[in-house]
Amino acid sequence: VSEDRFLELAPIAALGALDEPERVDFERHLPACASCRAELESHERVVSLIPLAWAAVGPSTEVRRRVVGRRSSTSAASWIPLAAAALTIVSAVLLLQMRSERNLAVEDAAAARAETARLTQQQSEIRRELALYQAGFTQARTIQALVVRSESRFTRLSGQGPQPQSQARVVWDPKSREAILVASGLHAAPAGKAYEVWVIARGAPVPAGVFQPDQSGLAVVQLRAVDEITSVKTFAVSVEPAEGVPAPTGPIVLAGSAGP
Ligand SMILES: [Zn+2]
Repeated sequence: VSEDRFLELAPIAALGALDEPERVDFERHLPACASCRAELESHERVVSLIPLAWAAVGPSTEVRRRVVGRRSSTSAASWIPLAAAALTIVSAVLLLQMRSERNLAVEDAAAARAETARLTQQQSEIRRELALYQAGFTQARTIQALVVRSESRFTRLSGQGPQPQSQARVVWDPKSREAILVASGLHAAPAGKAYEVWVIARGAPVPAGVFQPDQSGLAVVQLRAVDEITSVKTFAVSVEPAEGVPAPTGPIVLAGSAGP
């Protein structure tokens, strides 16, 4: 194996079949390298015999076109055996094939990388979906546990003002302060807005969570555990800035008494 990568280009250069950037590099390298000059010279002598050896090899029309365009100025050197000429041409053609296969391998690698990226993407989408399912499952278990607990209380919230079609249920455990609100029939919140849940006991409404309904207008919201829920009188939902606010400012869309 030669350290001089230009040496292996010599037969291709003699055939006039180098890529333009390679040809420029090779010709820049030649004046400084006697062995490449000698190699090129010997291959050029061989190339001059190509008309004689051509029929035995039959390279592609592209190689033929390039070679034929080049050979006319070279004089035939009849002392080189025809077999050697044929051999050199065969090796040059093989080199050309190897180079194009190498380029194909580079394309294969790019395709493999693209496929890997696609699979990685798919995998992370599946993981995200799985995480959503798991969150949904956990939430379902939490609701189930809360619903069957003997301490739990329930109430119904009805649609108010701008959204009479909406309704909701809240189930909560005054001891553990866990609470879940399930709302349906809600419109999508206006841009930059969200729905905020309020727990109202004796004093001012206390924020218990911000949510967005899904496309069907449904929302299942695990409420923030707040002390006021131990003596809650009213649950309410209003339209507020999406990040939530400490006290209600927007229109109330759902409200319901927590009962006695
Ligand atoms: Zn060299």
